[in-house]
Amino acid sequence: MGLALDQARLALASGDVPVGAVVLAADGTVIGTGYNTRERDGDPTAHAEVIALRAAAQALGSWRLTGTTLVVTLEPCTMCAGALVLARIARLVYGAVDDKAGAVGSLWDVVRDRRLNHRPEVIPAIRAPECTTLLTTFFTTRRTTSTRPTPTPR
Ligand SMILES: [Zn+2]
Repeated sequence: MGLALDQARLALASGDVPVGAVVLAADGTVIGTGYNTRERDGDPTAHAEVIALRAAAQALGSWRLTGTTLVVTLEPCTMCAGALVLARIARLVYGAVDDKAGAVGSLWDVVRDRRLNHRPEVIPAIRAPECTTLLTTFFTTRRTTSTRPTPTPR
């Protein structure tokens, strides 16, 4: 999770929401890393998890990431939860809970849906306070430094 947090901080340089992800092989070797670059790349799918999954698949030479662990600082959204099920990830470890868009128990539970043929093990809330603080600090700072005009009271 420390490595995922390091990745998350890299997103700050481009004003992206700080979310970071790491994919580990069964022996613990890092085979993929990623951070949110949605703003930087103007890409709606450039979430940390998707980027880390792509890197891991490239490293292994296969889309099937059997036996691997995905570590991410924020509970995955529906897109990422779907992607990691498709990648056959063995284990998902996440930090902060996402009450607004989480798809690993908060709003949906895509990864443990019995209708799907693959269900990764889930280890939630690892270093959650640190992961949450990184996000809340980002949003607080962005609000106070926003260039948008303050609405005038009527
Ligand atoms: Zn996502």
